[in-house]
Amino acid sequence: MLTLVLEDLSLRRGEKVIFENVSASFATVEVHILSGANGAGKSSLLQALIGNPQYALTGGRIWLDNEEIQDWAPEKRSQSGLFMAFQSPCEIEGLTVANFLRTTLKFFPNHPLHQASATDFYKELYLLLEAVGLPKNFTARAVNVGFSGGEKKRFELLQLKFLRPKFALLDEIDSGLDAGARELVLQTIRELRPTTGFIVVSHSEEFAHRCEPTAVWRLENGVLKTAA
Ligand code: ADP
Ligand code: MG
Repeated sequence: MLTLVLEDLSLRRGEKVIFENVSASFATVEVHILSGANGAGKSSLLQALIGNPQYALTGGRIWLDNEEIQDWAPEKRSQSGLFMAFQSPCEIEGLTVANFLRTTLKFFPNHPLHQASATDFYKELYLLLEAVGLPKNFTARAVNVGFSGGEKKRFELLQLKFLRPKFALLDEIDSGLDAGARELVLQTIRELRPTTGFIVVSHSEEFAHRCEPTAVWRLENGVLKTAA
């Protein structure tokens, strides 16, 4: 079992405290729900964990597999097994889904497809597209450009299944999804759970319950507490 430990994390923006002294411990196989009102700082906390420089911590330490990672670049955190499905995935003009994923592979030397032929790569990609309910022609679409909200979330799921990270941070992945897509998220969590730890931000109590969570947390007034 691998662990992700947050020790006294703080993030301020100018005068405003986004969160302070956040401490928590996560492990693979576990699913943790992160709840809190709009603007509570949930996305900021996840962004800080993956090392987005716009969300640089003002204090605290992050441990992944007993290594201190709070000063690591986002690329290194990703290569070490941290993954985030974004609340608002960004559009990348001029980069196709297939090229994006093939380029990603270069940075993951232990990935089973790291040195795969184009044929084997596309075989896997078509299987993944089918598994997340996206058509084959998405291989040639520019990343997220013109995708519907649901298609963007399905593509986040595809990346999750493709990379099989140690820890997956899912930021409101269930928001705006139809029932079928929500089931797909739950199914993916169940599929990866033996080797992946999840932190799932959701506003839906029903969805959170169906994730069969290890723990439910609430971020309120900058403080992270176990929810009752
Ligand atoms: P949540 O995900 O819980 O809804 P966020 O983490 O998105 O909350 O936002 C927490 C607070 O930080 C909000 O007051 C928001 O306006 C502010 N904030 C988030 N991102 C930025 C940013 N890039 N620049 C300035 N303020 C931001
Ligand atoms: Mg958010």
